[in-house]
Amino acid sequence: MAAAKPTQNLKYNFPISFGKFITPQKPIHKKNWPDNRYLHTIRELFGMDTVASAMIAVSTKLLIRLIPLLAAGAMAYPQTLPWPLKTDIDLSSGYGDYRSGGRFHAGLDLRTGGQIGEKVYSPVDGYVWRIRMSYGGYGKGLYLKGRDGHIYVFGHLSRFNEPLQSTVIREQFRQERYSVDLQLPADSIPVKLGQLLAFSGQTGAGGPHLHIEERTQDNVPLNPLNHGFRLEDNIPPTFERLGVHLLDDRSLFADGHRKMYLPVSKVGTGKYQVTGSITLNAPFGLQAGCADQMRAGGRKQAVFKLSLHIDDSLYYESTLDSLPYEIGSVVDLVYDRTEAANGDQRVRRTYRPVAPNQVWDQALASYGGEVSGRCAYGLDAPPVIGEHRAEITAEDVFGNRSVLVFRFNYVEAGASRSLTHQCDYAAYDDSSENNISDWRLEEDGLVIREKTGKNSRYYFFRPQPPAQAYQGDAGRLLRRHIAGLTEQGIDLQAVGWGRGRHISVDSGAFTLILPPGVFFDPQFVAVSTVAVQGGPGAPLASKAYRVQPEAVAMREKFRLSVKLPAGGPRVGKAGLCCYDQETRVWEWIGDDSGDSDLVSGSSSGGGVFAALIDTTPPTITGLNLRPGHKYPDRKPEVKFRLRDNLSSFNDTGSIDVRIDGRWLLPEFDMEEGRVVATLREPLDFGPHELKITAKDRAGNRSEKTIAFEIVRQKKK
Ligand SMILES: [Zn+2]
Repeated sequence: MAAAKPTQNLKYNFPISFGKFITPQKPIHKKNWPDNRYLHTIRELFGMDTVASAMIAVSTKLLIRLIPLLAAGAMAYPQTLPWPLKTDIDLSSGYGDYRSGGRFHAGLDLRTGGQIGEKVYSPVDGYVWRIRMSYGGYGKGLYLKGRDGHIYVFGHLSRFNEPLQSTVIREQFRQERYSVDLQLPADSIPVKLGQLLAFSGQTGAGGPHLHIEERTQDNVPLNPLNHGFRLEDNIPPTFERLGVHLLDDRSLFADGHRKMYLPVSKVGTGKYQVTGSITLNAPFGLQAGCADQMRAGGRKQAVFKLSLHIDDSLYYESTLDSLPYEIGSVVDLVYDRTEAANGDQRVRRTYRPVAPNQVWDQALASYGGEVSGRCAYGLDAPPVIGEHRAEITAEDVFGNRSVLVFRFNYVEAGASRSLTHQCDYAAYDDSSENNISDWRLEEDGLVIREKTGKNSRYYFFRPQPPAQAYQGDAGRLLRRHIAGLTEQGIDLQAVGWGRGRHISVDSGAFTLILPPGVFFDPQFVAVSTVAVQGGPGAPLASKAYRVQPEAVAMREKFRLSVKLPAGGPRVGKAGLCCYDQETRVWEWIGDDSGDSDLVSGSSSGGGVFAALIDTTPPTITGLNLRPGHKYPDRKPEVKFRLRDNLSSFNDTGSIDVRIDGRWLLPEFDMEEGRVVATLREPLDFGPHELKITAKDRAGNRSEKTIAFEIVRQKKK
């Protein structure tokens, strides 16, 4: 039997072979600074005297380091990097874990025992390259350039060690904004291996933890566990279930699904199997619900290496070792997005769910997942009738492995139907009276249910190019039922053949803008209106529209826009929002439109969308300073709670805290809704005025002004 052979692409493979020191930094000399602009920056950051001494100090250190390096020639790079935390290392999220919104987790999340303030040490010699402060994302983030050529990122920090902390604060006060992005010149803040860098926190994140990333010098995130950071791990990955996905144009399982999940049982250490034999009669791909753990009871995370053999031929292999950002959306080809949307983010495919596509061949190859063809049984090569043995191997970075064995019997289409699991070829009979009771969109096509008495029969249709859509029996069915759907106010279209497409419904009130190549493969897209309520204090400004399918692998986000009714609220007060059907909460996704009566935004999937009006200003409560009170502390912290009903806050310009017109630095924990603002210089004794201004994305403002007094503390 012919089977696809893997073609390993080495471009992004980084085996541990640090045989030589990578690109030693040149000794720092004034002429090595790129230009005067940088000098200017340093001057601002440090003051001139500090710069001079810092530069001299660096030069000396580097020269000393470089001499033995050059003398010794190739230097062995340490195989093991020290962890940035000195506490026991426990992971709360792994490299390559599925993240909703179409991306991989690019690093590791280290637990900090529920605490903030754990010391974070440098794993390498290098220098601080960048500091980025934002209320969301990585919160307080530190980027280090190591002498090994790699970039190390630390996210969600609570504060930095000196002199960095003062440097950042000085810059925040200079710019009078919290969210600054400092790019520091090489070696202006040198760092030694083991040096205290910062303190862990929960800025920009839910719950305290430390996010770390290791990237190549070209910003490609690497799997830290495979690039220097080691753990004691003797636990092999586990298998949770096996999925079979039918991949031809017409087949369904008897229950009307394209996928079927089978339970697996553990039969020994690292040994799993699916009991019995399954009969199949259409091409299929396999997917494995599998997880890795670093310790018993530890958090489940992505399996490092997953491979599939059928009858001892390698069909598919993927290694989560380097994940360039450009291929982030491949996450939905690597994982099963439908399962992820339903709460299981650990179902991995061992096949390509879409037809070969040149651009994405390359992307898949670079993540290591590509094997020529679709890695599906019966698609790349003719299926062989008879019994077969499939074996899925899951391996962690440290070589612990588990194997799942699965036997299947491949029969001719239309053969025996007496077996437990089988697929049903949907031969549509146009002559019968069809009673189509419902339909749904799956990731690869349209499923229609026909009811005859108590029985249901399902039909599956892949999208066809417009020219071929209405030919044959499927075409007759589609023509009749799609026409029916359109009459009911549901616009169902097949899209994705090269050109982009706008789907506009309700006389242009709602438009879906699909750029060319937005989907990996042609797709059915349906738009319909749906009855839902607005949010608290945020009424609907338009009808609500449902875009289906909700879970579909997409190469990029698509844009959508809603027209605001004449005489109603304008752009700014109204924004495009997405409805979370589980939590029943509306989320503001955009108000960026050049047009005065259109609100637009982007989405990485279907869902329910509408324009909502936000006229409710944010609330400022629980202010710690009280009007008319006297305080002895000349640098009082200003603390209060800040909440918004819908549009929430931007990173810049949303919170302004001033005393007598002087700017205070506002730290803001978005999740907790807590603001702590601090002064740069102490206040004089006497009366002062505090003014807080908060502005949401819709431009609604709240203000609070109080007068208070700083008094000398009475001597006892
Ligand atoms: Zn993380």
